[in-house]
Amino acid sequence: MSDYETVIGLEVHAQLLTRSKMFCGCATTFGAAPNSQTCPVCQGMPGVLPVINRRAIELAIRTARTLHCRINAECRFARKHYFYPDMPKNYQISQYEEPLAEDGWLEVEVDGALTRVGIQRLHLEEDVGKLTHEGGVFETASASLVDFNRSGVPLMEIVSRPDLTAPAEAAEYLRVLRALLRYLGVCDGNMEEGSLRCDANISLRRRGAAELGTKVEIKNMNSFRHVRAALEYEVSRQARALERGERLVQETRLWNPDRGETLSMRSKEFAHDYRYFPDPDLVPMRPAPAWVAEIEAALPELPRARRRRFVEQYTLPPYDADLLTQDRALADYYEEAVRRHPNPKALANWVISELLHELHGDPAAVATCRIAPQHLARLVALVDDGTISGKIAKDVFERMARSGEDPDTIVRRHGLTQLTDEAALVGLVDEVLAANPAAAADYRRGKKQSVAFLVGQIMKATQGKASPQVVNRLLTERLGSA
Ligand SMILES: [Zn+2]
Repeated sequence: MSDYETVIGLEVHAQLLTRSKMFCGCATTFGAAPNSQTCPVCQGMPGVLPVINRRAIELAIRTARTLHCRINAECRFARKHYFYPDMPKNYQISQYEEPLAEDGWLEVEVDGALTRVGIQRLHLEEDVGKLTHEGGVFETASASLVDFNRSGVPLMEIVSRPDLTAPAEAAEYLRVLRALLRYLGVCDGNMEEGSLRCDANISLRRRGAAELGTKVEIKNMNSFRHVRAALEYEVSRQARALERGERLVQETRLWNPDRGETLSMRSKEFAHDYRYFPDPDLVPMRPAPAWVAEIEAALPELPRARRRRFVEQYTLPPYDADLLTQDRALADYYEEAVRRHPNPKALANWVISELLHELHGDPAAVATCRIAPQHLARLVALVDDGTISGKIAKDVFERMARSGEDPDTIVRRHGLTQLTDEAALVGLVDEVLAANPAAAADYRRGKKQSVAFLVGQIMKATQGKASPQVVNRLLTERLGSA
């Protein structure tokens, strides 16, 4: 066991799914032409006034209550001052001493052990613009381009307490939080597009010590894998430094995924460096308790409750339930299919193996999938009533994925109905037996598994359309009676 304990806290920034920005009416659509979604407010022109987006407050309250946070009776926006070319006002509107919500928790399970991670605060702020450097951020760029479309997009910051004790636990916290935000419909959770971003604070201390060690902040981690790798790197870097008796400095480091290491970016700034003060353009906010109660009453069923219900209601193994409820759209898809054809286990198998494979493992892609849930239900119904074989069903599934057609149309057009007509199959059985005398002889000598080879020959001859049950029975009858 190492002499050191790892202490990790995460700050997650989530872009809220509002149609307009935090303090102006500009659109928030991702990927629009640079600087096409801007106005004097989000470009920081003099004399303009911000107006709070009510929907953003609602989404933040929804999240805060799910995370068991207290909604403060009064909160306030503050100006956080610093210069950066992506921020024309030279201050960011954020919340400081009076955040929207505080003191919640989120449960995380790693290797069967449940940890309750404290949520220190949840507040709202505005995003800054986006810089594109001509050259890598670790090199000297010859030019930088700025796009203010992102400037003013509502951001929710969720700050955990330093309750995480391992990189794997931190990655799991992030996974659970992301799933939750997606379930709540408050953030799309897309880390690649930057709508979910994470900074980590990490320090090491001697086992049992009461005081926290020197804290290092890591930025620039845009996937779960990077978060975990960066934290693992930092644990060993800090442990080595402490072993050698070096002093660690409080600093901000950047994760470089190409080199697999963190690099010092700047010495860590302190809160007082920002000269926070209440924004005089925005009055304090007092969310009405009745409104908060209304938002709370409309919360959807959350992943853990849904997983439990799937196990009970559909008698699914917990593993299946876990996979099916990881994403709200996928779980909705599954339930819609089961409603159409109540064979929960077979449908779970199809969704988990074939459908997720088709979606390249991304459950959220179900939203744009060409196979409608009622069509998948119908496909399983066709297998269950013996119209098509399981093997043919996989073929039909692939055609459905390509064309978006319903399975009945595909089966009819390609004549894929299962051959169950004994009179038609018995002749074929005889042909195959005559063509493969060695296999037949093996079977009669007691090598029963050679029947599988013979079944295979018949399936091949019928392009997989013969009913394996009927073929099996006919074969054993024929072989036994000879
Ligand atoms: Zn604007």
